[in-house]
Amino acid sequence: MRDKELYTQILGIRSPWQVAEVELSVGTGEVKVFVEQESGAERYCPKCGAACSGYDQRRRKWRHLDTCQFKTILVADVPRVECPEHGVLTVTVPWAEPGSGFTAMFEALVIDWLKEASTLAVSRQMKLSWNAIDGIMQRAVKRGLQRRAVYAPKRIGVDETSFRKRHDYVTVVSDKAGAKVLHVADERTKESLSGYYESLSDKQKAAIESVSMDMWPAYINATLEHIPGAEEKIAFDKFHVAKYLGEAVDKVRRQEHKALLAQGWEDLKGTKHTWLRNPWNMSARQWRDFKALRQSTLKTARAWAIREFAMSLWNYVSRSWAEKGWRRWLSWAVRSRLVPVKAVAKTIKDHLWGILNAVVLKVDNGHAESINSRIKTIKMRSRGFRNKERFRNAIYFHLGGLDLYPAGIRR
Ligand SMILES: [Zn+2]
Repeated sequence: MRDKELYTQILGIRSPWQVAEVELSVGTGEVKVFVEQESGAERYCPKCGAACSGYDQRRRKWRHLDTCQFKTILVADVPRVECPEHGVLTVTVPWAEPGSGFTAMFEALVIDWLKEASTLAVSRQMKLSWNAIDGIMQRAVKRGLQRRAVYAPKRIGVDETSFRKRHDYVTVVSDKAGAKVLHVADERTKESLSGYYESLSDKQKAAIESVSMDMWPAYINATLEHIPGAEEKIAFDKFHVAKYLGEAVDKVRRQEHKALLAQGWEDLKGTKHTWLRNPWNMSARQWRDFKALRQSTLKTARAWAIREFAMSLWNYVSRSWAEKGWRRWLSWAVRSRLVPVKAVAKTIKDHLWGILNAVVLKVDNGHAESINSRIKTIKMRSRGFRNKERFRNAIYFHLGGLDLYPAGIRR
Protein backbone atom coordinates (compact mmCIF):
# COMPACT_ATOMS: atom_id res chain seq x y z
CA MET A 1 0.00 0.00 0.00
CA ARG A 2 2.69 2.42 1.08
CA ASP A 3 4.66 1.64 -2.07
CA LYS A 4 1.74 2.68 -4.23
CA GLU A 5 1.54 6.05 -2.52
CA LEU A 6 5.29 6.53 -2.72
CA TYR A 7 5.43 5.77 -6.42
CA THR A 8 2.39 7.89 -7.18
CA GLN A 9 4.36 10.80 -5.71
CA ILE A 10 7.74 9.93 -7.23
CA LEU A 11 6.39 9.41 -10.71
CA GLY A 12 3.92 12.30 -10.50
CA ILE A 13 1.05 10.03 -11.56
CA ARG A 14 -2.22 11.92 -11.67
CA SER A 15 -5.85 11.19 -12.41
CA PRO A 16 -7.09 9.55 -14.61
CA TRP A 17 -3.98 7.40 -14.12
CA GLN A 18 -3.17 5.58 -10.90
CA VAL A 19 -0.54 3.20 -9.60
CA ALA A 20 -2.07 -0.27 -9.47
CA GLU A 21 0.81 -2.32 -8.17
CA VAL A 22 4.49 -2.15 -7.33
CA GLU A 23 6.62 -5.21 -7.90
CA LEU A 24 10.06 -5.26 -6.39
CA SER A 25 12.61 -7.79 -7.54
CA VAL A 26 15.64 -7.60 -5.29
CA GLY A 27 17.44 -10.27 -7.28
CA THR A 28 17.57 -8.25 -10.50
CA GLY A 29 17.63 -4.87 -8.74
CA GLU A 30 14.52 -3.86 -10.56
CA VAL A 31 11.23 -2.32 -9.55
CA LYS A 32 8.20 -2.50 -11.82
CA VAL A 33 5.46 0.04 -11.33
CA PHE A 34 2.15 -0.94 -12.88
CA VAL A 35 0.00 2.02 -13.86
CA GLU A 36 -3.60 1.89 -15.05
CA GLN A 37 -6.42 4.20 -15.95
CA GLU A 38 -9.12 4.68 -13.31
CA SER A 39 -12.18 2.68 -14.19
CA GLY A 40 -14.71 4.68 -16.15
CA ALA A 41 -12.11 7.29 -17.21
CA GLU A 42 -12.98 9.16 -20.39
CA ARG A 43 -10.73 8.39 -23.35
CA TYR A 44 -9.78 10.89 -26.00
CA CYS A 45 -8.44 10.79 -29.53
CA PRO A 46 -4.75 11.88 -29.44
CA LYS A 47 -5.23 13.77 -32.71
CA CYS A 48 -8.43 15.79 -32.25
CA GLY A 49 -9.17 15.38 -28.55
CA ALA A 50 -12.69 14.07 -29.14
CA ALA A 51 -14.07 11.68 -26.52
CA CYS A 52 -13.99 8.19 -28.04
CA SER A 53 -14.96 4.68 -27.20
CA GLY A 54 -12.23 2.24 -26.23
CA TYR A 55 -10.95 -0.22 -28.82
CA ASP A 56 -8.43 -2.41 -27.02
CA GLN A 57 -5.26 -1.99 -25.02
CA ARG A 58 -1.60 -2.83 -25.35
CA ARG A 59 1.04 -3.42 -22.74
CA ARG A 60 3.91 -0.94 -22.90
CA LYS A 61 7.03 -0.38 -20.79
CA TRP A 62 9.12 2.70 -20.11
CA ARG A 63 12.35 3.01 -18.27
CA HIS A 64 12.23 5.72 -15.63
CA LEU A 65 14.89 7.31 -13.40
CA ASP A 66 16.24 4.85 -10.88
CA THR A 67 14.39 5.02 -7.58
CA CYS A 68 16.06 3.99 -4.33
CA GLN A 69 18.89 2.65 -6.54
CA PHE A 70 16.57 0.26 -8.33
CA LYS A 71 16.22 0.28 -12.07
CA THR A 72 12.66 1.45 -12.39
CA ILE A 73 10.24 0.34 -15.10
CA LEU A 74 6.81 1.78 -15.66
CA VAL A 75 4.32 -0.71 -17.07
CA ALA A 76 0.87 0.15 -18.35
CA ASP A 77 -1.82 -1.30 -20.53
CA VAL A 78 -2.31 1.66 -22.80
CA PRO A 79 -5.77 1.93 -24.31
CA ARG A 80 -6.37 2.40 -27.98
CA VAL A 81 -9.41 4.38 -29.00
CA GLU A 82 -11.50 4.40 -32.11
CA CYS A 83 -12.07 7.93 -33.35
CA PRO A 84 -14.80 8.30 -35.99
CA GLU A 85 -12.49 10.62 -37.90
CA HIS A 86 -8.95 9.33 -37.22
CA GLY A 87 -9.48 5.62 -36.76
CA VAL A 88 -7.77 3.43 -34.17
CA LEU A 89 -5.05 5.26 -32.22
CA THR A 90 -3.09 4.78 -29.00
CA VAL A 91 -3.93 7.40 -26.37
CA THR A 92 -1.08 9.64 -25.24
CA VAL A 93 0.36 9.05 -21.80
CA PRO A 94 1.46 12.04 -19.71
CA TRP A 95 4.85 10.59 -18.72
CA ALA A 96 6.34 9.79 -22.11
CA GLU A 97 6.39 10.89 -25.70
CA PRO A 98 4.89 8.59 -28.31
CA GLY A 99 7.28 5.94 -29.56
CA SER A 100 9.80 6.23 -26.72
CA GLY A 101 10.72 3.43 -24.36
CA PHE A 102 11.78 5.96 -21.72
CA THR A 103 9.80 8.36 -19.59
CA ALA A 104 10.19 12.05 -20.39
CA MET A 105 12.04 12.63 -17.12
CA PHE A 106 14.51 9.87 -17.96
CA GLU A 107 15.13 11.27 -21.45
CA ALA A 108 15.65 14.74 -19.97
CA LEU A 109 18.28 13.39 -17.59
CA VAL A 110 20.10 11.58 -20.40
CA ILE A 111 20.03 14.82 -22.42
CA ASP A 112 21.55 16.70 -19.48
CA TRP A 113 24.30 14.12 -19.11
CA LEU A 114 25.09 14.06 -22.82
CA LYS A 115 25.73 17.79 -22.70
CA GLU A 116 28.37 17.23 -20.04
CA ALA A 117 29.99 13.93 -20.85
CA SER A 118 31.01 11.63 -23.68
CA THR A 119 28.58 9.10 -25.13
CA LEU A 120 30.71 6.32 -23.67
CA ALA A 121 30.53 7.78 -20.15
CA VAL A 122 26.77 8.27 -20.38
CA SER A 123 26.34 4.75 -21.69
CA ARG A 124 28.21 3.36 -18.66
CA GLN A 125 26.65 5.66 -16.10
CA MET A 126 23.04 5.15 -17.21
CA LYS A 127 23.48 1.52 -18.34
CA LEU A 128 22.23 2.33 -21.82
CA SER A 129 23.25 0.94 -25.18
CA TRP A 130 24.69 3.26 -27.84
CA ASN A 131 21.59 2.67 -29.90
CA ALA A 132 19.33 3.74 -27.04
CA ILE A 133 21.38 6.91 -26.54
CA ASP A 134 21.31 7.55 -30.25
CA GLY A 135 17.52 7.21 -30.26
CA ILE A 136 17.18 9.71 -27.42
CA MET A 137 19.48 12.15 -29.21
CA GLN A 138 17.63 11.77 -32.49
CA ARG A 139 14.25 12.38 -30.90
CA ALA A 140 15.64 15.38 -29.01
CA VAL A 141 17.03 16.94 -32.18
CA LYS A 142 13.84 16.27 -34.13
CA ARG A 143 11.75 17.98 -31.43
CA GLY A 144 14.14 20.91 -31.28
CA LEU A 145 14.16 21.42 -35.04
CA GLN A 146 10.37 21.26 -35.20
CA ARG A 147 10.06 23.88 -32.49
CA ARG A 148 12.51 26.11 -34.33
CA ALA A 149 10.88 25.80 -37.76
CA VAL A 150 9.51 29.33 -37.73
CA TYR A 151 12.72 31.04 -36.62
CA ALA A 152 13.98 33.65 -39.09
CA PRO A 153 17.74 34.22 -38.82
CA LYS A 154 19.17 37.50 -40.11
CA ARG A 155 22.91 37.10 -40.32
CA ILE A 156 24.11 33.68 -41.29
CA GLY A 157 27.44 32.13 -42.19
CA VAL A 158 28.24 29.04 -44.20
CA ASP A 159 31.40 27.00 -43.95
CA GLU A 160 32.69 23.52 -44.59
CA THR A 161 34.10 21.15 -42.04
CA SER A 162 35.69 17.75 -42.53
CA PHE A 163 33.84 14.67 -41.34
CA ARG A 164 36.28 11.83 -41.02
CA LYS A 165 38.69 11.63 -43.85
CA ARG A 166 40.43 14.65 -45.20
CA HIS A 167 38.25 15.04 -48.25
CA ASP A 168 34.92 14.12 -46.77
CA TYR A 169 33.08 17.33 -45.93
CA VAL A 170 29.86 18.57 -44.45
CA THR A 171 28.41 22.04 -44.99
CA VAL A 172 27.45 23.90 -41.82
CA VAL A 173 25.11 26.90 -41.86
CA SER A 174 25.25 28.94 -38.69
CA ASP A 175 23.47 31.87 -37.11
CA LYS A 176 25.59 34.76 -35.94
CA ALA A 177 23.08 35.48 -33.18
CA GLY A 178 23.96 33.05 -30.43
CA ALA A 179 26.55 31.35 -32.64
CA LYS A 180 24.36 28.33 -33.24
CA VAL A 181 24.17 25.78 -36.01
CA LEU A 182 21.12 26.07 -38.26
CA HIS A 183 21.78 23.36 -40.79
CA VAL A 184 24.19 20.53 -41.53
CA ALA A 185 24.36 18.95 -44.99
CA ASP A 186 26.55 16.40 -46.74
CA GLU A 187 29.32 17.54 -49.08
CA ARG A 188 30.12 21.13 -49.97
CA THR A 189 28.25 21.44 -53.22
CA LYS A 190 25.67 23.88 -54.45
CA GLU A 191 22.99 21.36 -53.47
CA SER A 192 24.34 21.19 -49.89
CA LEU A 193 23.49 24.83 -49.32
CA SER A 194 20.43 24.93 -51.60
CA GLY A 195 18.88 22.25 -49.39
CA TYR A 196 18.94 24.70 -46.49
CA TYR A 197 17.46 27.56 -48.48
CA GLU A 198 14.72 25.29 -49.81
CA SER A 199 13.69 24.48 -46.24
CA LEU A 200 12.90 28.16 -45.63
CA SER A 201 9.69 30.03 -46.38
CA ASP A 202 9.78 33.09 -48.65
CA LYS A 203 9.45 35.25 -45.55
CA GLN A 204 12.41 33.58 -43.88
CA LYS A 205 14.52 33.96 -47.02
CA ALA A 206 13.66 37.63 -47.28
CA ALA A 207 14.64 38.16 -43.61
CA ILE A 208 18.24 37.13 -44.31
CA GLU A 209 20.44 40.24 -44.32
CA SER A 210 23.86 38.74 -44.89
CA VAL A 211 25.49 35.43 -45.74
CA SER A 212 29.18 35.28 -44.91
CA MET A 213 31.30 32.65 -46.65
CA ASP A 214 34.54 31.77 -48.35
CA MET A 215 34.94 32.68 -52.04
CA TRP A 216 33.53 29.29 -53.00
CA PRO A 217 31.50 29.09 -56.25
CA ALA A 218 29.08 26.40 -55.01
CA TYR A 219 27.96 28.50 -52.03
CA ILE A 220 27.91 31.72 -54.07
CA ASN A 221 25.69 30.19 -56.75
CA ALA A 222 23.28 28.59 -54.29
CA THR A 223 22.84 31.92 -52.52
CA LEU A 224 22.42 33.92 -55.73
CA GLU A 225 19.74 31.48 -56.82
CA HIS A 226 17.69 31.42 -53.62
CA ILE A 227 18.12 34.63 -51.65
CA PRO A 228 16.49 37.79 -52.99
CA GLY A 229 19.03 40.62 -53.30
CA ALA A 230 21.94 38.22 -52.73
CA GLU A 231 24.33 40.47 -54.71
CA GLU A 232 24.32 42.84 -51.74
CA LYS A 233 24.13 40.19 -49.03
CA ILE A 234 26.94 37.76 -49.88
CA ALA A 235 29.92 38.72 -47.74
CA PHE A 236 33.32 37.16 -48.34
CA ASP A 237 34.82 36.53 -45.03
CA LYS A 238 37.87 38.35 -43.71
CA PHE A 239 39.40 35.24 -42.13
CA HIS A 240 39.43 33.32 -45.38
CA VAL A 241 40.95 36.26 -47.28
CA ALA A 242 43.58 36.57 -44.53
CA LYS A 243 44.30 32.85 -44.81
CA TYR A 244 44.93 33.03 -48.56
CA LEU A 245 47.22 36.03 -48.16
CA GLY A 246 49.05 34.31 -45.31
CA GLU A 247 49.63 31.30 -47.55
CA ALA A 248 50.95 33.63 -50.28
CA VAL A 249 53.40 35.25 -47.83
CA ASP A 250 54.57 31.79 -46.81
CA LYS A 251 55.09 30.70 -50.41
CA VAL A 252 57.12 33.83 -51.14
CA ARG A 253 59.21 33.18 -48.02
CA ARG A 254 59.89 29.55 -48.92
CA GLN A 255 61.02 30.44 -52.45
CA GLU A 256 63.15 33.32 -51.28
CA HIS A 257 64.69 31.34 -48.44
CA LYS A 258 65.75 28.65 -50.89
CA ALA A 259 67.26 31.21 -53.26
CA LEU A 260 69.12 32.95 -50.41
CA LEU A 261 70.43 29.70 -48.98
CA ALA A 262 71.87 28.83 -52.36
CA GLN A 263 73.97 31.96 -52.06
CA GLY A 264 74.89 31.22 -48.47
CA TRP A 265 72.49 33.67 -46.79
CA GLU A 266 70.39 32.63 -43.81
CA ASP A 267 68.31 35.82 -43.36
CA LEU A 268 64.99 33.93 -43.42
CA LYS A 269 66.00 30.94 -41.38
CA GLY A 270 63.47 30.15 -38.62
CA THR A 271 61.22 33.09 -39.48
CA LYS A 272 58.16 31.23 -40.77
CA HIS A 273 55.93 31.96 -37.79
CA THR A 274 57.13 35.50 -37.32
CA TRP A 275 55.65 36.44 -40.69
CA LEU A 276 52.38 34.70 -40.03
CA ARG A 277 51.79 36.00 -36.56
CA ASN A 278 49.16 38.68 -36.11
CA PRO A 279 51.00 41.91 -35.13
CA TRP A 280 48.31 42.50 -32.50
CA ASN A 281 49.44 39.37 -30.74
CA MET A 282 53.11 40.32 -30.68
CA SER A 283 54.72 41.61 -27.54
CA ALA A 284 56.52 44.99 -27.73
CA ARG A 285 59.78 43.08 -27.74
CA GLN A 286 58.75 40.71 -30.56
CA TRP A 287 57.60 43.70 -32.63
CA ARG A 288 60.97 45.41 -32.07
CA ASP A 289 62.90 42.29 -32.98
CA PHE A 290 60.79 41.95 -36.10
CA LYS A 291 61.63 45.51 -37.21
CA ALA A 292 64.82 44.74 -39.15
CA LEU A 293 63.12 41.95 -41.03
CA ARG A 294 59.90 43.73 -41.91
CA GLN A 295 61.73 46.87 -43.01
CA SER A 296 64.23 44.95 -45.10
CA THR A 297 64.21 44.84 -48.88
CA LEU A 298 63.33 41.15 -48.83
CA LYS A 299 60.52 40.01 -51.11
CA THR A 300 58.92 38.34 -48.10
CA ALA A 301 58.80 41.73 -46.32
CA ARG A 302 56.99 43.19 -49.34
CA ALA A 303 54.48 40.32 -49.41
CA TRP A 304 53.94 40.76 -45.67
CA ALA A 305 53.32 44.51 -46.06
CA ILE A 306 50.80 43.84 -48.82
CA ARG A 307 48.98 41.39 -46.58
CA GLU A 308 48.94 43.84 -43.66
CA PHE A 309 47.60 46.59 -45.91
CA ALA A 310 44.73 44.30 -46.92
CA MET A 311 43.94 43.62 -43.28
CA SER A 312 43.58 47.34 -42.62
CA LEU A 313 40.94 47.65 -45.35
CA TRP A 314 38.14 46.03 -43.37
CA ASN A 315 37.52 49.09 -41.22
CA TYR A 316 35.84 51.33 -43.77
CA VAL A 317 32.24 52.33 -43.29
CA SER A 318 31.40 53.79 -46.69
CA ARG A 319 31.33 51.53 -49.70
CA SER A 320 32.93 54.05 -52.07
CA TRP A 321 35.88 54.70 -49.74
CA ALA A 322 36.30 51.01 -49.17
CA GLU A 323 36.35 50.45 -52.92
CA LYS A 324 39.00 53.14 -53.42
CA GLY A 325 41.13 51.54 -50.72
CA TRP A 326 40.84 48.04 -52.17
CA ARG A 327 41.55 49.27 -55.74
CA ARG A 328 44.72 50.94 -54.49
CA TRP A 329 45.69 47.69 -52.77
CA LEU A 330 44.95 45.68 -55.92
CA SER A 331 47.19 47.84 -58.09
CA TRP A 332 50.02 47.44 -55.58
CA ALA A 333 49.54 43.68 -55.30
CA VAL A 334 49.27 43.18 -59.05
CA ARG A 335 52.47 45.15 -59.70
CA SER A 336 54.34 43.40 -56.87
CA ARG A 337 56.04 40.84 -59.15
CA LEU A 338 55.36 38.27 -56.43
CA VAL A 339 53.56 35.42 -58.19
CA PRO A 340 51.70 33.96 -55.16
CA VAL A 341 50.51 37.44 -54.13
CA LYS A 342 49.37 38.22 -57.65
CA ALA A 343 47.35 35.01 -57.76
CA VAL A 344 45.44 35.94 -54.59
CA ALA A 345 44.99 39.48 -55.89
CA LYS A 346 43.33 38.08 -58.99
CA THR A 347 40.87 36.09 -56.86
CA ILE A 348 40.16 39.15 -54.71
CA LYS A 349 39.61 41.32 -57.78
CA ASP A 350 37.03 38.87 -59.11
CA HIS A 351 35.25 38.81 -55.77
CA LEU A 352 35.64 42.44 -54.76
CA TRP A 353 31.86 43.01 -54.76
CA GLY A 354 31.38 40.50 -51.94
CA ILE A 355 34.40 41.74 -50.03
CA LEU A 356 32.94 45.25 -50.11
CA ASN A 357 29.64 43.81 -48.87
CA ALA A 358 31.50 42.27 -45.94
CA VAL A 359 33.23 45.58 -45.18
CA VAL A 360 30.06 47.68 -45.14
CA LEU A 361 27.81 45.03 -43.57
CA LYS A 362 30.48 44.48 -40.90
CA VAL A 363 30.13 40.72 -40.97
CA ASP A 364 32.70 37.98 -40.84
CA ASN A 365 32.71 34.27 -40.16
CA GLY A 366 34.24 34.63 -36.71
CA HIS A 367 31.29 32.84 -35.12
CA ALA A 368 31.50 30.06 -37.72
CA GLU A 369 35.18 29.60 -36.91
CA SER A 370 34.39 29.14 -33.24
CA ILE A 371 31.64 26.68 -34.16
CA ASN A 372 34.16 24.83 -36.26
CA SER A 373 36.51 24.34 -33.35
CA ARG A 374 33.60 23.17 -31.17
CA ILE A 375 32.67 20.65 -33.88
CA LYS A 376 36.20 19.27 -33.64
CA THR A 377 35.67 18.75 -29.91
CA ILE A 378 32.39 16.93 -30.56
CA LYS A 379 34.15 14.73 -33.08
CA MET A 380 36.77 13.81 -30.50
CA ARG A 381 34.27 13.23 -27.71
CA SER A 382 32.10 10.97 -29.81
CA ARG A 383 34.79 8.82 -31.32
CA GLY A 384 33.38 6.20 -33.61
CA PHE A 385 30.69 8.06 -35.47
CA ARG A 386 29.80 5.23 -37.73
CA ASN A 387 27.98 7.45 -40.14
CA LYS A 388 27.44 11.05 -41.05
CA GLU A 389 23.87 10.93 -39.81
CA ARG A 390 25.06 10.53 -36.22
CA PHE A 391 27.72 13.18 -36.68
CA ARG A 392 25.09 15.56 -38.02
CA ASN A 393 22.75 14.83 -35.15
CA ALA A 394 25.49 15.43 -32.60
CA ILE A 395 26.23 18.83 -34.16
CA TYR A 396 22.57 19.83 -33.91
CA PHE A 397 22.36 18.39 -30.41
CA HIS A 398 25.34 20.29 -29.03
CA LEU A 399 25.46 23.41 -31.17
CA GLY A 400 21.93 23.91 -32.48
CA GLY A 401 20.80 26.02 -29.53
CA LEU A 402 17.68 23.83 -29.60
CA ASP A 403 15.03 23.20 -27.00
CA LEU A 404 15.70 19.47 -26.74
CA TYR A 405 13.56 18.33 -23.84
CA PRO A 406 10.41 16.26 -24.13
CA ALA A 407 7.17 18.21 -24.00
CA GLY A 408 6.25 19.43 -20.54
CA ILE A 409 9.84 19.50 -19.29
CA ARG A 410 11.62 22.85 -19.11
CA ARG A 411 15.06 23.32 -17.75
ZN1 LIG B 1 -9.78 12.09 -33.74
